Amino acid sequence: MSEFELIQHYFTERQSSPSYIPLGIGDDCALMSARVGMQLAISSDMLVAGRHFFADANPRMLGHKSLAVNLSDLAAMGAEPRAFTLALALPEVQPDWLRDFSEGMFFLAEQHHCQLIGGDTTKGPLNICITVFGEVPIGQALRRDAAQAGDDIWVSGALGDARLALAGYLKQQALSEADHQQAALRLHQPSPRITLGLALRGIAHAAIDVSDGLIGDLGHILKRSQLGATLWCDSLPFGPILAQQNTALCREYALAGGDDYELCFTAPSAQRSAVLAAAKQADTVVTRIGYIEAEAGLRIVDANNQPLSLSHQSFDHFSS
Ligand code: ADP
Ligand code: MG
Repeated sequence: MSEFELIQHYFTERQSSPSYIPLGIGDDCALMSARVGMQLAISSDMLVAGRHFFADANPRMLGHKSLAVNLSDLAAMGAEPRAFTLALALPEVQPDWLRDFSEGMFFLAEQHHCQLIGGDTTKGPLNICITVFGEVPIGQALRRDAAQAGDDIWVSGALGDARLALAGYLKQQALSEADHQQAALRLHQPSPRITLGLALRGIAHAAIDVSDGLIGDLGHILKRSQLGATLWCDSLPFGPILAQQNTALCREYALAGGDDYELCFTAPSAQRSAVLAAAKQADTVVTRIGYIEAEAGLRIVDANNQPLSLSHQSFDHFSS
């Protein structure tokens, strides 16, 4: 199968192009129009076999996850998905693998009305790089540098089950087959919090998606906003499988695990009911887990206000 036939077979648009994409796959570039009063939000994420996923990973789930991690970045900006490109390096053409991968990817793309508009395909070690394009009204993006002292800190959904599933694969934790399977859904099938991100426009100040662990990702907000924070470790929403483990492990994986793809955001305390209404509208649970303060640094305290030692380091691809 030639490169052209492969693209034609697996990666052509499934729906007719929306009006804002006058030209999709097949030319040197795609053409896309932005609506009046909107800014484009653009992000790329690369997934490398052996680093971000096991080389024998289920291709349908991999197709889902490759797009989901990118959509999660749009969610964290309060941007609405519009289109994406796919750059793919494949060691060989395996029709079953390509069919399942593209189905997993397109299923999620269609849910979010996000159109595949181009890409690149080459032979090489398995590597998947997606770039997403979203839209946000000018000036309304939820930026990392916009937190303010006194803001509440919130997180969506639940934390740590994806890290627990990884620990199961790596034999770091013993889990029952049923528990491992359920936790593994969080690792392989993250749900990008797009609806919540959109509902938080005009309510939240700063936001980030939790991909590398809460401490590290909240740290990016603090650094960019030049502020500090206190986090309540006994208020963290542990994933339901993780919650059955001991407290130390729950805290470690919720604070420093990776792959949660939840939103961590800050909002003024006067907006608490608006935050809860936005979460309800988005059908997503949110939990208040601390507050932003002027004093630099991150303090983590338990329910008795006792400090927790900060030995947890955010997962960093260059240090491990
Ligand atoms: P060029 O030589 O100009 O880079 P290509 O032959 O690589 O063009 O690609 C031809 C067309 O197919 C382009 O429109 C490109 O965006 C699209 N394309 C290539 N690979 C993919 C892919 N994996 N998914 C979607 N579109 C792709
Ligand atoms: Mg090319």
